Amino acid sequence: MNLSRKQFLQLSGSSVLGFSLFSSVTGCSGSNSIQKITGSGEIMIEVKTKRLDLAHTWTISRNSSDFKNNVFVKIERNGITGYGEAAPNVRYGENSQKTTKRINEAKKIFEQNNLFHYVDIKEETDKAITDQSCAKAALDIALMDWVGKAFNIPLYKLFGLDTEKAPVTSFSIGIDTVEVIKQKVREAEQYPILKIKVGTDRDREIINAVRSVTDKPIRVDANEGWKTKEEALEKIKWLKDQGVEFIEQPMPSTMIKETAWLRERAGIPIIADEAVKTAADIPKLAEAYDGINIKLMKSGGIQEALRMIGMAKALGMKIMLGCMIESSVAISAAAHLAPFVDYADLDGNLLIKNDPFTGVKVVKGKFVFNDKPGLGVEGTF
Ligand SMILES: [Mg+2]
Repeated sequence: MNLSRKQFLQLSGSSVLGFSLFSSVTGCSGSNSIQKITGSGEIMIEVKTKRLDLAHTWTISRNSSDFKNNVFVKIERNGITGYGEAAPNVRYGENSQKTTKRINEAKKIFEQNNLFHYVDIKEETDKAITDQSCAKAALDIALMDWVGKAFNIPLYKLFGLDTEKAPVTSFSIGIDTVEVIKQKVREAEQYPILKIKVGTDRDREIINAVRSVTDKPIRVDANEGWKTKEEALEKIKWLKDQGVEFIEQPMPSTMIKETAWLRERAGIPIIADEAVKTAADIPKLAEAYDGINIKLMKSGGIQEALRMIGMAKALGMKIMLGCMIESSVAISAAAHLAPFVDYADLDGNLLIKNDPFTGVKVVKGKFVFNDKPGLGVEGTF
């Protein structure tokens, strides 16, 4: 039965209720009808770099920064807009110029394909972009936002997930002076778990500073900062006594054998971060690490993250969901996968002062999802 919009509103008996029903049936608001959400047709893809300012100077074992230039993407087709974001990371040879170039080069894949065929689009994008995984992430996040909106459901529902099962997120404390670390820990009072950046020759001082202010659970990320297995073991033994829950990337990503040696002696879980980008990296790490840290910027988006979750689960590995310094666009995208994982570390948006978007929120470490379709984000760039 084909109903005109007017007939539909008349049948529903209330123009207000009718409008909302019509909107939810068609998956969009305004004058679009379901017939128009074909996934094909005219497309508009916008790319823009935006500077995100950090609340505190962000220091890890490798480097320090006061702001990040992230690249935002908007895909518009059939009256539906999907948003995506790339957080280029120097560790992986990425920057905003190269990322923008790759996104622009991949635009034709989206122009030529039906957006409902998002699996095909991912395959083609993987072939087209081989050196800036964050560019792939921006496109895949925007695509999945579009798809969720076209189906008019939040992504976590599309994936069949119960948001109540999402673990609480940790809040990260970067490397700093003792006084600033203490101040940051006090400011992070509402967060039940902290992730402390180490990997320096001042690691004990850093942890002592944290422990002088709080006894809440802490996790530690060395960001490849310990250069020998003996150094790593000595530090881990001490950290274990300080109530540390697990250690992330103790040594350089290439030191897989040494990490396997360390794992046998550590007594607490060791999680791979820099050592793992996509599902293909996981099998060779299963002997050396207890778990993996999945980040959309490394995986190249939501679809590959889902594949990684499947692979890690099949290998009996723990799964952590992490992030770079990102706005609510990329953080919300990852949060929709949180019910799948053991540990969440999705605080990138909480570390910046000028988030251009709102989306999934965090209250006392717990994710608060809205019921909006797709990523559920609002804002502009
Ligand atoms: Mg890490």
